[in-house]
Amino acid sequence: MKIVFEKGGGSLMSEPILVVHAGAGTWKNVEDINQIVNVLKDSLEAGYNSYRNGNCLDMVTNAIEVMENSGILNAGLGSTLDYSGNITMDAGIVDGNSLKAGAVAAVVYPKNPIRLARFILEKTPHLLIVGQYADDLAKKINLEKHPGPSEKSVELWKKLKNNPNVENFVLERINAAKLIGYDTVGSVAIDKDNCLSSGVSTGGVSLKLPGRVGDSPILGAGYYANKKIAIAATGIGEIIMATLLSYKVSEIYEKNENLKDSMNHAIDEINKNFGKDVVGIIGIDYKKNVYGIYNTEAMPWGYITLDRKIVIKGLPNR
Ligand code: ASP
Repeated sequence: MKIVFEKGGGSLMSEPILVVHAGAGTWKNVEDINQIVNVLKDSLEAGYNSYRNGNCLDMVTNAIEVMENSGILNAGLGSTLDYSGNITMDAGIVDGNSLKAGAVAAVVYPKNPIRLARFILEKTPHLLIVGQYADDLAKKINLEKHPGPSEKSVELWKKLKNNPNVENFVLERINAAKLIGYDTVGSVAIDKDNCLSSGVSTGGVSLKLPGRVGDSPILGAGYYANKKIAIAATGIGEIIMATLLSYKVSEIYEKNENLKDSMNHAIDEINKNFGKDVVGIIGIDYKKNVYGIYNTEAMPWGYITLDRKIVIKGLPNR
């Protein structure tokens, strides 16, 4: 299913500048897919508004913030719970021109982990700060506090915990992830100076063991950008980290300069080595090509063009 929201015309202006995704997974249990579409649309519009007055980092940060605040995606307010019933979140963002990145792992305090990651990128000499230390930093810079798990996340957690096979499936990583679903948020963008950025934010996989960190805050795994290409990944973090998936795509792109082929190639490798139903990626290159591919049942994603056309793809079949 493809929904195109047309605004204005003129194919010359019709260059994609920002891409977002709401996570690769089964999307079986989503009650109202229109809600997801609306969040993607709001997120693309927020990122688009930053195009005029801001840079690629603003576009990605603002787009991700909308998805974190939606409460219906697995990031920020809607983060899923770990095995003990707590939220810990990961996020990362990179500036493709300077290769400066900022990331946080296993944070509890900030409502918007992407803001904290952005702060680390811009205001500290570091790339990744974790746990309580990152939370202390969030407090110190007066980031808004996370109000705690949403009702929906708690309900899902209870349902999963009540499954008599819960012990078995949390330990069988791939099967567990397939069963539980997974859906991080991510965004890639190119700004008016042709700078590329990639960012991601997540509550991680449901029922993860406490302290587990996924691919999202790992540069080259969950997110990567350089002067030519920006990639954001979603899916089973352990596989994305093991394959350095986002960096892998950039490496292939270096040789062929073809976004679609590079991303397809990387997913073919994943299919071969790990099977279906495990990952998805979105990408944009300096030539303003965009692409999204996933080997799961769905990965709602979309992009916005310079003339404000929004295209939404990857919705689950109903
Ligand atoms: N990649 C995320 C993680 O493993 C999950 C997801 O993409 O939904 O933490």
